[in-house]
Amino acid sequence: MEIIHFSAECYPVAKVGGLGDVVGALPKYQNKLGHVAKVVIPAYQTKFFQQHEFEVVYDGWVKLDFTNYQVRIFRELTNKLGFDLYLVHIAGLLDREKVYGYHDDVSRFLAFQIAALDWMAQWEHLPDVVHCHDHHTGLIPFMMGNCFNYTKLNQVPTVLTIHNAQYQGQFGWDKLYYLPPYDLWNSSKLDWGGAINPLAAAIKCAWRVTTVSPSYLDEISHVANGLENLLAQERGKSAGILNGIDNEVWNPQKDPMLFKNFNSRTVESGKKANKEELCRVFNLDPNKPLFTFIGRLVDEKGADLLPEICYQALAQSQGEINILMLGSGDPGVEDRLNEITQHHPGHYNAYIGYNESLSHQIYAGADFLLMPSRVEPCGLNQMYALRYGTIPIVRRIGGLKDTVIDIGDGGFGICHDQTSIWDVVHAIGRAYALYLNQKKMKEIRKFIMALDHSWDSAAQQYIDLYQLK
Ligand code: ADP
Repeated sequence: MEIIHFSAECYPVAKVGGLGDVVGALPKYQNKLGHVAKVVIPAYQTKFFQQHEFEVVYDGWVKLDFTNYQVRIFRELTNKLGFDLYLVHIAGLLDREKVYGYHDDVSRFLAFQIAALDWMAQWEHLPDVVHCHDHHTGLIPFMMGNCFNYTKLNQVPTVLTIHNAQYQGQFGWDKLYYLPPYDLWNSSKLDWGGAINPLAAAIKCAWRVTTVSPSYLDEISHVANGLENLLAQERGKSAGILNGIDNEVWNPQKDPMLFKNFNSRTVESGKKANKEELCRVFNLDPNKPLFTFIGRLVDEKGADLLPEICYQALAQSQGEINILMLGSGDPGVEDRLNEITQHHPGHYNAYIGYNESLSHQIYAGADFLLMPSRVEPCGLNQMYALRYGTIPIVRRIGGLKDTVIDIGDGGFGICHDQTSIWDVVHAIGRAYALYLNQKKMKEIRKFIMALDHSWDSAAQQYIDLYQLK
């Protein structure tokens, strides 16, 4: 089966969050199952693009409104990622350092999708399935089914995976003419709430819709930033498939970013060595339990509550715990997290920014990882934590609910019901009590490292779902 993944991110080429991890891993595992999975993303000005060799597979133009942009599609030559990688280069639009966050993101991702389809429409063969990820590629199912330029593609099955329904990419109807021509009677397929809504269009037009965990599928029929009714309506063609993790990248035994490698047999000494180094670097006490957070500092992740959670937990523990934060996002939260360092030196520290190696070192060196998310479509952090012997403290929501069982229920994590300061501080208290029982801690570490969250089974579930005809 030939599967074409369209996405805005793909690790290690361009990653902002979990979307990048998924698109960097799922195709590799699909190829291992004997299929041909390829990935198409924009060519940003990233290190990967500058440091690898490519061949040009397509030259063309894309017209948006009154401007023509030159398009060049590159194929990476070594196949070192475990799949064919295609980068869509559009001078003046996509060739920038960051993935998102520009005033013209609508034009950038629209041009990306049109260029990719112009290219695919020229192929001599048709792929078996086109798999789109999130709203940045959400207009592809509509365009394949409705635009006159792509009639050749209109029988190719399309799948949308929703990694996050909060972000939908809406833009005004004044930009309608940016789209390649189609029968205007079909415009309602693009519309949601009086705007062109790429995520809604994909939910309507894709042959199948998936979410990145079963619980998230249930939840978005009730809370989905305005798309609840649509999602409930399209439930019949939807499925929740829990993300996996890339066991090759996230392997504490081989991970080159760690201070010391370890496995479930050497977990105690391995984690101790990583914790000691981490504590040395961040001026923390390696003899106290280390609580951490890694992620985007946005309300969805409960980040706005983190400063107060830290203050209260540090005060209540009377110097018996350490906290280390890694994240970036809301500048107000960033400042408040930085400030705490002055009040609790030696017990608290924060790294504000994005740092891939540090994230690996924290998963390896921490005792506990906090995830007080308000919304968590799947969450990969808790699965990385488990694989690195770190106990997750999670809110029971979305994918966190599907992957973490509370110690009180015979499980291995700490769960709480609400994203509230009280709930999280209470959960930290429970974790501290657990930490004092080192025998139990050792048992849990060994157990969680052996849990299998790899892509092997989920990759097959997607293949089964693709049998659409
Ligand atoms: P989301 O995609 O909503 O941000 P996920 O849990 O699905 O959340 O994935 C987050 C991914 O991004 C993980 O690989 C996590 O380690 C990584 N990550 C998030 N913030 C940072 C950061 N500041 N530095 C390094 N890695 C980060």
